[in-house]
Amino acid sequence: MKVLVMGGGMSGLATAINLLDLGFEVELVEADEIFGGRASSWRDEDGDMIDNALHVFFPYYANLINFFRKMGIEENILWKQTEFYYMQAGGKEAVLRFADLPAPFHAAAAFYNLLKSYTGIPKWKLLFTAAGMASGVMAPERKMEKLDEITFGQWAVRRGPTDAFLPMEPGINGLTFTPSWMVSAKVMLNWFRKVTADPDSARVGFANGGLGDIWVDTCLKYIHEKGGKTELRKAVTSINVEGNRVRGVIINGEEERAADLYVSCLPPFSLRQVLPRDVYRYEYFRNLWYFHYAPSLSLQIWFDRKLTDVDVTFFSNNCIFNTYADLSNVLPHIFTGGSMFEMVLSPADNIEGLPDEVIFDIAIGQIRDLFPIAREAEVRKYKVVRERQGVYRAYPGMEKRRPYQRSPLDNLYLAGDYTRTHVSSGGMEAAIWTANHCAEIIALDKLGKFHTLNVDWKPKAGLVPIIRPATQVGGIMVALALARGALRLLKKS
Ligand SMILES: Cc1cc2nc3c(=O)[nH]c(=O)nc-3n(C[C@H](O)[C@H](O)[C@H](O)COP(=O)(O)OP(=O)(O)OC[C@H]3O[C@@H](n4cnc5c(N)ncnc54)[C@H](O)[C@@H]3O)c2cc1C
Repeated sequence: MKVLVMGGGMSGLATAINLLDLGFEVELVEADEIFGGRASSWRDEDGDMIDNALHVFFPYYANLINFFRKMGIEENILWKQTEFYYMQAGGKEAVLRFADLPAPFHAAAAFYNLLKSYTGIPKWKLLFTAAGMASGVMAPERKMEKLDEITFGQWAVRRGPTDAFLPMEPGINGLTFTPSWMVSAKVMLNWFRKVTADPDSARVGFANGGLGDIWVDTCLKYIHEKGGKTELRKAVTSINVEGNRVRGVIINGEEERAADLYVSCLPPFSLRQVLPRDVYRYEYFRNLWYFHYAPSLSLQIWFDRKLTDVDVTFFSNNCIFNTYADLSNVLPHIFTGGSMFEMVLSPADNIEGLPDEVIFDIAIGQIRDLFPIAREAEVRKYKVVRERQGVYRAYPGMEKRRPYQRSPLDNLYLAGDYTRTHVSSGGMEAAIWTANHCAEIIALDKLGKFHTLNVDWKPKAGLVPIIRPATQVGGIMVALALARGALRLLKKS
């Protein structure tokens, strides 16, 4: 049976691999001039590595880690300490460092640590942050579902004074490219729940090299060795449907391709443009029009000297960037010499129309404010990356619009980070999970066999089951514990 996989990003390559393993004949077409989609990298005219944005991995990426293990490239993820640095004006650092204690005390200790040096909001407000987050991440599942009806901002005003959740904003912006007042509360709390689940789950992994370098070629080699075919610069321009089946697709407006099965690993913004009008009789396909684009930009800056020695993620509030890292510390074996900052600029709605040099001028001004040492440093070069950016905007209500991998058409399946999964709002784990699930249901539908690829990620419960009842009445215990710590701190200072 022949399958045409449309789109050569992470979900497309993983789908091709999964289906080859099941014995299908696979052809994959990709519109771009490189494979890897949004999780890619390339070299610029000077031979410097350009990532399609800073990408980080988390321990809850159980299926991505399994996929990398199967490809023999698990070591290409470099795992760092369970800490996040907040960089503040004048070079003042604050650290959210998760302690090696049973959950939730590992997180309470992290907040206590942050309390000492975070200056973005008054300390008493930070107590609301801690208590609110504790009750949010420990909310029972049935409440979590309801939280997809409101924004994180709406959720937050019910739990604390203005700005109490400001420390969460860079993480929210970096993950969803969306401000907290627009993003689904469920999406964010689900994510915070995962990264704070146990003492190890906040560990951030970085690509040990160019983002695409660490996985794309290995996947292509696997596909080709198994007899699969892959082609670049082949854009699907229309999908022809007859009755309840796809009859073929048109490539680059002229060339016809036919197969027995079709898997779309295209972003929703492309898929809805190439589907015929008739399919919009189905609500399933109409839902594709609910997806809005959340723009982002990426900025890489090479300095002539070291600005930091931190080798994990930085967060900053009130800047055009929010999440960033100094890759000269993260990957010292690759980035020698001065610092190389790789930064996510988002939400980019109000800056994407600006010229590169204006974006750079704003960013460097803010960097000099946060890292005084940068005032003396020379910028060797910078790059603003605009291509292959963006994710869908995780507005409230979007979780139910995400299409399931089995479509109403008999021989069309969907994979991709925006399709339905327990992983809120997409990301690389969602890309792999959906590629796996797509293969699982194709195996069932077309081969009549159960084939299990996806696994569940299970954090260590710690003392959460005992603490949870208290948090349900307002996070009182955590608040009291933190209040005591804060009082002690205030007395000292
Ligand atoms: C700035 C940024 C930062 C990110 N940071 C993280 C992170 O830290 N951690 C994380 O887990 N995830 C992160 N992500 C998300 C991650 O990159 C994606 O979840 C993942 O790469 C999605 O893979 P995909 O295959 O679903 O989609 P894509 O990578 O978008 O693949 C779709 C492919 O389809 C191709 N295509 C489009 N139209 C056509 C057509 N008509 N015909 C043929 N081919 C077509 C595209 O060229 C593309 O290659 C980030 C994304 C961005 C943009």
